[in-house]
Amino acid sequence: MNILVINCGSSSLKYQLIDMEGENLLAKGLVERIGIEGSRIKHRTTGKEEVVIQKPLKNHKDAMKLVLDSLIDKKYGAIKSLKEINATGHRIVHGGEKFAFSVKIDAQVMKTLNDCIDLAPLHNPPNIIGIEACRELMPDIPMVGVFDTAFHQTMPEANYIYALPYELYKKYKIRKYGFHGTSHKYVSMRASQLVGKDIKNLKIVTCHLGNGASVCAVDGGKSVDTSMGFTPLDGLAMGTRSGSVDPAIIPFLMEKEKLSAEDVNELLNKKSGVLGISGISSDFRDLESAASDGNKRAKLALDVFNNRVKKYIGAYAALMGGIDVLVFTAGIGENSSEIRYEICKGLEFLGIKMDKEKNQVRGKDALISQEDSKVKVFVISTNEELMIARETKELI
Ligand code: ADP
Repeated sequence: MNILVINCGSSSLKYQLIDMEGENLLAKGLVERIGIEGSRIKHRTTGKEEVVIQKPLKNHKDAMKLVLDSLIDKKYGAIKSLKEINATGHRIVHGGEKFAFSVKIDAQVMKTLNDCIDLAPLHNPPNIIGIEACRELMPDIPMVGVFDTAFHQTMPEANYIYALPYELYKKYKIRKYGFHGTSHKYVSMRASQLVGKDIKNLKIVTCHLGNGASVCAVDGGKSVDTSMGFTPLDGLAMGTRSGSVDPAIIPFLMEKEKLSAEDVNELLNKKSGVLGISGISSDFRDLESAASDGNKRAKLALDVFNNRVKKYIGAYAALMGGIDVLVFTAGIGENSSEIRYEICKGLEFLGIKMDKEKNQVRGKDALISQEDSKVKVFVISTNEELMIARETKELI
């Protein structure tokens, strides 16, 4: 069974074609600059050279058509005809409270998805457009929606309700939803496999540290709390996002700097985080190199980031009444041994003993704690696409 996984952004489309027999990647690629001058596809079939094709693409339907043409291309394709695609699995950012699980997409689901747009005005519309493009181009192929928020729907009310007037939750559904759920679910399942214990008996803290970053408390396989909130802005300091700030700063800034709601949103989402603190870059590679050259603000940005992750680990250990496994994943979590080390430093009292040498690992799933560390610490490469493909397979 071959499953095509689709992740549509506002001007991009990422895809992977996976053969579910052995969970083998058949092809993957990225369409960029959809609807903007200079649109192109980077496509790679496993075992063949990568191809880059420049072509004007008006919209996501054009992009989807180019993806399908690339997949069946005689020279650089992976399959002979579209009949070899058994289903498509779509990443959808926000499922609100309506979707606690992945779903087979039908007309009713599409209607509910449109109702969720209010909650994720930037992310959900391109996801929906991607689904519509697939339906037009492959009307007979079943589609499944997999939500970033679904894994966190198991959080108890006491962890998702904000201390605001309760009526606002009723009226606007203002509550914590959490994101990166597909990744937190994947790496927590993989961690339980690596320790050789049933996930039901494990207390796991997963740190998804990429451009967007979040921490999740996974108790017995279920998300019980996570650092992102009503939107993906809350929690950790990120590349360009502020994470949690004192909410009173917002009206203060609006008044002093004469900012509109839109301006503040832009400031908190695009100009803050480690970029805002350092004034240099949102990329941790740049910050690490600047800090080692003595740049104080780059060092400060890294310290803020690391301390915040450390605090969440402590908080979630307290919330779950212990911690058995700690996982690092995503761009920073998988690649920066320095950041992993700094985060774990001082957490020996929790039973976390990092092994300096094992921590140098790169590019493979590995245990990086000492033999006698009570808490097993892992680096695990996240694979949201494979998780989406698995859920799609299960549903069809
Ligand atoms: P997203 O999917 O949220 O865009 P990723 O998970 O791809 O993000 O992570 C991207 C981030 O990973 C980059 O911004 C960069 O800061 C960080 N990163 C990648 N490689 C390294 C590295 N070798 N050392 C430190 N940070 C890295």
